[in-house]
Amino acid sequence: MTKWFFCGIVSFMDKKTILVTGGAGFLGSHLCKTLLEHGNRVICMDNFFTGRERNIAPLKDYRDFEVLVHDVTLPYSFYVDEIFNLACPASPPHYQRDPISTYKTSVLGAINALELADKWNAKVFQASTSEVYGDALVHPQTEDYWGNVNPHGIRSCYDEGKRGAETLFFDYHREHGTRIKVVRIFNTYGPNMNPEDGRVVSNFIMQALNGEDITIYGDGSQTRSFCYCDDLIRGWLLLMNSGDEITGPVNMGNPGEFTMLELAEKVLKLTGSKSKLVYRPLPGDDPKQRRPDITLAGKLFGWKPEIDLEEGLKRTIEYFKQR
Ligand code: NAD
Ligand code: UDP
Repeated sequence: MTKWFFCGIVSFMDKKTILVTGGAGFLGSHLCKTLLEHGNRVICMDNFFTGRERNIAPLKDYRDFEVLVHDVTLPYSFYVDEIFNLACPASPPHYQRDPISTYKTSVLGAINALELADKWNAKVFQASTSEVYGDALVHPQTEDYWGNVNPHGIRSCYDEGKRGAETLFFDYHREHGTRIKVVRIFNTYGPNMNPEDGRVVSNFIMQALNGEDITIYGDGSQTRSFCYCDDLIRGWLLLMNSGDEITGPVNMGNPGEFTMLELAEKVLKLTGSKSKLVYRPLPGDDPKQRRPDITLAGKLFGWKPEIDLEEGLKRTIEYFKQR
């Protein structure tokens, strides 16, 4: 099979050309690496809003790796077999830094990815989020729950942007038969997170390693479920390689549920840090309780996470120490 790739006009034999938007970010860099290891040609598109050169620097040794510095809100066109649409800042301080741009990235970024997928009959994957459930009134969250989302709060640029992207994915699927795969990702952590990212796992680990106070927002009783990045990427590939009838939305995350106080205690124990806990105001619309029901992913393609929080934290702490 010979395919033409119009970003240079070069032809490639017998390998998939896969676009990863947001490929220089935390999850995107792990995905690009795995796809390259599987022998694919990978185009990483990123505007480096939160992505980092150091995440993808080791991938530049692969002949089949290409980086396009481009904003996904602007149109683009070249040949692809598959698209993983990940571009969007995921950390609350970052997505709230430029909320209009965050919303545009989700919605216009989804349209541009879907248009390209349509053009080549390519499969297109959407990194959706547990945030579509908002401050959930159903626990644990199942895919048939429609959510409890504030449409005009400080988290709305992200939550509603991602909901809008899901709407577009399913409308393209219904109207054009676009081959979609939509995954709702619950909090995921691991190496390649930016230490300055502002999310809870990277904050607590950096604070513990630096002997700084651990910042608990609110009283620390709110819960999250934390998935290690390798488990998630394995699940993404199972979903992407499943039959076209499996569109999602499908939850992916680790169903272990922890309060932020429990997370802080674990980080203190694993780092041996003497840092103290300090309490800071809870940000607006911060969800109180979050845990995925992952029955559907198990039924559809046999996925469940294997790395528990303690093991995942040890690996992540090691990464941050080496920096
Ligand atoms: P990240 O912030 O590390 O990565 C996002 C990447 O997208 C960055 O490289 C950034 O520069 C890039 N980007 C942002 N806006 C862009 C634009 N307009 N054009 C091109 N590139 C742009 O976040 P992450 O944790 O790797 O998340 C990846 C995806 O997974 C995001 O879509 C996020 O919403 C989703 N997700 C992640 C989590 C998680 O816990 N990590 C949970 C739910 C959903
Ligand atoms: N959080 C905290 N201290 C921090 C950063 C975050 O207590 O230094 C809390 C935050 O209020 C939220 C939880 O940890 O309740 C997870 O926050 P994160 O930003 O990682 O993700 P999200 O809120 O999007 O799930």
